[in-house]
Amino acid sequence: MTPTTVNQADIIVRRNPKGCKSEDFYNWPEEPFEEMDSTIAVQQFIQQKIRKDSSNVDEILTPPKGQELGIWKYEHMRQFCLELNRLTVKLQAECNPESCSQMTATEQWIFLCAAHKAPKECPAIDYTRHTLDGAAALLNSNKYFPSRVTIKESSVAKLGSVCRRVYRIFSHAYYHHKTIYDEFEAIHYLCKRFSLFSIKYDLMSVENLIVPIPGMDFQTIEVSKCTPATPSTGLDTTVTANTSVIAPTTESDTSEA
Ligand SMILES: [Zn+2]
Ligand SMILES: [Zn+2]
Repeated sequence: MTPTTVNQADIIVRRNPKGCKSEDFYNWPEEPFEEMDSTIAVQQFIQQKIRKDSSNVDEILTPPKGQELGIWKYEHMRQFCLELNRLTVKLQAECNPESCSQMTATEQWIFLCAAHKAPKECPAIDYTRHTLDGAAALLNSNKYFPSRVTIKESSVAKLGSVCRRVYRIFSHAYYHHKTIYDEFEAIHYLCKRFSLFSIKYDLMSVENLIVPIPGMDFQTIEVSKCTPATPSTGLDTTVTANTSVIAPTTESDTSEA
């Protein structure tokens, strides 16, 4: 566990050098949040906690003292999308347009893909890719998220719809590709962290969280008190359950500006 050093100086370099061995990957001492002097400190802090113990979702989702919550939620959302790409790669092994021609979880709804001019019934794996691409485009959009340090409340309000859409990847995986879901979840606890995150920061309603998490009772999770008021599940009112198809809610970039 020798930290990488720069020449003779005793400076710890927290970086993976080119060609470093897998056992040396991220093999450096932790850094206190107060000492992280960077515009991506929050992301570094979150990733550091995930590497330390991915199962400790409470700890991972606990912001440092004084942390502004808009940025905290935004950086977690970025991290979820990043890690969901890994689950998607695993899903590709058995989820294809022939096996799953529609994006479904339970039999109740078919989800339409919001990545197209007119919402479309994409196969599950395409829905997954298109939705992650759309989320990445939004989260990297210079218009809504120009800074990693401050964030407008109107932009924070967009996170709820990203949450609902990407959650469908978990639910599809759970209900249709259980072995892949279980193997992934046993290592990363990603759906567990996502579920707690969505409730704690009031980004999704408990009824919409349809993937059970062992040992977690959604009803008992407290919504973070100091969360700034964000319109969350209210946006869902455009979704009706009396048809078999769930159209994407109308918060696409153009209609929600
Ligand atoms: Zn599938
Ligand atoms: Zn699509």
